[in-house]
Amino acid sequence: MSDVTIDDLPVRDELRGKSPYGAPQLDVPVRLNTNENPYPLPEPLVERIAERVREAARGLNRYPDRDAVELRTQLARYLTRTGGHEVTRAQVWAANGSNEIIQQLLQTFGGPGRTAIGFEPSYSMHALIARGTGTGWISGPRRDDFTIDADAAARAIAENRPNVVFLTTPNNPTGNAVPRETVLALYDAAQAAGPSIVVVDEAYVEFSHGDSLLPLLQGRPHLVISRTMSKAFGAAGLRLGYLAAAPAVVDAVQLVRLPYHLSAVTQATALAALEHTDTLLGYVEQLKAERDRLVAELRALGFEVTESDANFVQFGRFDDAHRAWRDILDRGVLVRDNGVPGWLRVTAGTPAENDAFLDAVRGLKKERNA
Ligand SMILES: *Cc1c(COP(=O)(O)O)cnc(C)c1O
Repeated sequence: MSDVTIDDLPVRDELRGKSPYGAPQLDVPVRLNTNENPYPLPEPLVERIAERVREAARGLNRYPDRDAVELRTQLARYLTRTGGHEVTRAQVWAANGSNEIIQQLLQTFGGPGRTAIGFEPSYSMHALIARGTGTGWISGPRRDDFTIDADAAARAIAENRPNVVFLTTPNNPTGNAVPRETVLALYDAAQAAGPSIVVVDEAYVEFSHGDSLLPLLQGRPHLVISRTMSKAFGAAGLRLGYLAAAPAVVDAVQLVRLPYHLSAVTQATALAALEHTDTLLGYVEQLKAERDRLVAELRALGFEVTESDANFVQFGRFDDAHRAWRDILDRGVLVRDNGVPGWLRVTAGTPAENDAFLDAVRGLKKERNA
């Protein structure tokens, strides 16, 4: 039995020879590779989670609220308070991470015989989830400086007529935001070609210099904004993502979501976290300041740095980015090699972690110049 490998199994053709998503989870003193928030949850919140989960545990003989009504109400309240636009519960849907939100959207609006486009380099999970849902993937263009050329992107949409368009802003792994005018132009291009669903992935929007694109939902029934509690909320382990869109989009994803997909424990934990929104988001300003410090210090050291609106920074350029990644790892700091030739990505950590990272790259520079 043990000599049977994946190649011996009758897996779908499009999965043959492929690798799973996998940022290395290495045991290193300083881990700045997956854009997590470096601060553990504050103790009063841990207590509140325990309370809420204890309460939920008494009802675990029953299935959870399939429609997550209380949670969606609180998420809508958070969006209304911070997004500059009134969002109702009927416009919000939640799932196990925004990756599941994206999967549900592709199951609903993509699928076999359909396509999705993203402008790369961007978040690699969009293409991977497209593959997993049998959706064809189109890699749209970016300029060499990683901005999106709106005309070239609109042409790609007109030529390919994709069913789903992904725009990640701020973008991962490059860090730069997509200007509002570009989003508007590409939404219009997608409606002229399709109409297609435009998914704006705002996983990092809380770290942005600019505002959320939530107000654009007004009058744009094919626009979806996806969000997560994994980054600014510092709750990557919770697995809670959500979307805001026209109520009809929320109705549509009901057709593919698994019944009771969001466990009672998850809903209780997320509700406790939302009671402590202000404390959780209290670290965002500090992380933004650390992000800006990383940009300034890397530039002072002579690195090229992409403008960042996120909690991470893309820096280069390296003749061999993977070797540089190794050299930094050898100095005890784990950053990310996203496969963008010449560039690496570092997450803004605590001030001490960022100092350790800056020491490591300073050492690298010295050694290379020696
Ligand atoms: C981290 C990240 C997510 C978050 O995914 P979750 O499943 O919510 O943890 C979504 N989109 C982008 C662009 C990300 O970088």
